[in-house]
Amino acid sequence: MKTFQINTKINFGQGALASLEKLEGKRVLLITDPFMVKSGLVNEPIKYLQKSEYTVFSDIVPDPPIEVVTSGIKVFKEFMPDAVVALGGGSAIDSSKAIVYFSKKILNLGHVQLIAIPTTSGTGSEATSFSVITDKQKGAKYPIASDELLPDVAILDPELVKSVPPNVTADTGMDVLTHAIEAYVSTQSHDCSDALAERAIKLVCEYLPKAYADGNDIKAREKMHNASCLAGIAFDKVSLGINHSIAHAIGAKFHISHGRANSLLLVHVIDYNSQIDGYKTTEFSEAAKKYAEISSFLKLNIFNEKVAVDSLKDAIIKLQKQLNMPLTLTECGIDPKEVEAMKDEIAELALNDNCTKTNPVKPTKEDIIKILEK
Ligand code: NAD
Repeated sequence: MKTFQINTKINFGQGALASLEKLEGKRVLLITDPFMVKSGLVNEPIKYLQKSEYTVFSDIVPDPPIEVVTSGIKVFKEFMPDAVVALGGGSAIDSSKAIVYFSKKILNLGHVQLIAIPTTSGTGSEATSFSVITDKQKGAKYPIASDELLPDVAILDPELVKSVPPNVTADTGMDVLTHAIEAYVSTQSHDCSDALAERAIKLVCEYLPKAYADGNDIKAREKMHNASCLAGIAFDKVSLGINHSIAHAIGAKFHISHGRANSLLLVHVIDYNSQIDGYKTTEFSEAAKKYAEISSFLKLNIFNEKVAVDSLKDAIIKLQKQLNMPLTLTECGIDPKEVEAMKDEIAELALNDNCTKTNPVKPTKEDIIKILEK
């Protein structure tokens, strides 16, 4: 038996932000990053908190380190909120999840409401039970996983995403695509997660180029925001694969944005999981069949399984070129000698990452090194 349950209430569409008014009379801790304050975007949710008592903690940085979570817990302790509003990209939402989780444990508290308001369309963190925190000393990213991290409410208001610059739109959009594709081929995938992943893949292919070309295209922004959340729910239920395991290690070592790291690996991981083009065997894997299904619903060439997998890879490369994205680590400015020197450590980190457990093919360290070299 399998169970599928969504615990996060999702308010979506233009004007969804007004649902924050339901926090009337509550003590609200709003957690965000300095850009939101500098740009004035923080005032958008604040408009709806006028009948609440609120304070703002705005020290979140990308790839949030343990130290940021510790400072946030200190603010939580001083203010003792009934509700926490997380405003920002995955970094602000992940930090807020960890701050609420650890504050509750340390202070022995009952439920504290968590409302996540994403301002990027990428991580899906507003609907997942993960929080990714970086240990700067060890140079590693650690996903914490617990149902207690799930936000109670996610507010997907596309107005908040219009200001995302094209390069961040591209990186975070490719993160959505990677989530959906990895969830679709995960060893745990099932009809419910496939339905969400399929819809997310279709939405990204149609609307990411539009959101990239014109950030004010509100329909494209709304569709990408929905795609991000749908992909988040899908992978929350069935997890991901080695694309994410390697991306976590690359992100921590080379400070490449999470979505960009995922994008660099995507076609090579598809190659590996399909077990074609020089890997181990010429037999097609079960994953190849699922990739072929993706090509089918994207109406690509599906003459046979090899053609179908190749046409999916071609479509991804075409999309990456449309988004002016780098296709290699070297194009990201990383010295190949640095990659060579770290490849063993990266492969080791990736092998031990939780996402590896649900990859459709069980990799060896050598397999991961081969993907890195590609
Ligand atoms: P981010 O939150 O780090 O933000 C990237 C940059 O975009 C920041 O400088 C931010 O200020 C800026 N930004 C955000 N919203 C903006 C807006 N509306 N206008 C202009 N600029 C804006 O990036 P992200 O990709 O959303 O999150 C990445 C983090 O999420 C990583 O740490 C990653 O590991 C984590 N992650 C978590 C999950 C999960 O399930 N919890 C899943 C995937 C990734």
